[in-house]
Amino acid sequence: MTRLDCNVTSCLHNSDNYCCKAAIIVEGPKAKDTYETSCGSFDENKDGAFHNLFKTPESKLEVDCEAKNCVFNEDRHCNAEHIGIAGDGASESEQTECASFKIRS
Ligand code: SF4
Repeated sequence: MTRLDCNVTSCLHNSDNYCCKAAIIVEGPKAKDTYETSCGSFDENKDGAFHNLFKTPESKLEVDCEAKNCVFNEDRHCNAEHIGIAGDGASESEQTECASFKIRS
């Protein structure tokens, strides 16, 4: 389980800079930098009306990850203790990124 902060407040699953999903997937199979990754679980909160009415923020969650060039990627799973997803104001998943991506040397 990974501790996760997320500042994508335009996402349906965001509450107080935490994610309310039990698991997310980070995309970016060819990523060599943070901006080439994205949160594949992003869903736009179009009208803001149903903002996590029935959800509770998860501070730790399972992170599946396609960014296999990252040092934290272990068999398509993130083994970092703490990551941050960024993309405040995003309206699509490509506008988000895993800010903790770190390329393998
Ligand atoms: S962008 Fe991803 S990590 Fe952030 S709240 Fe949405 S689903 Fe969760």
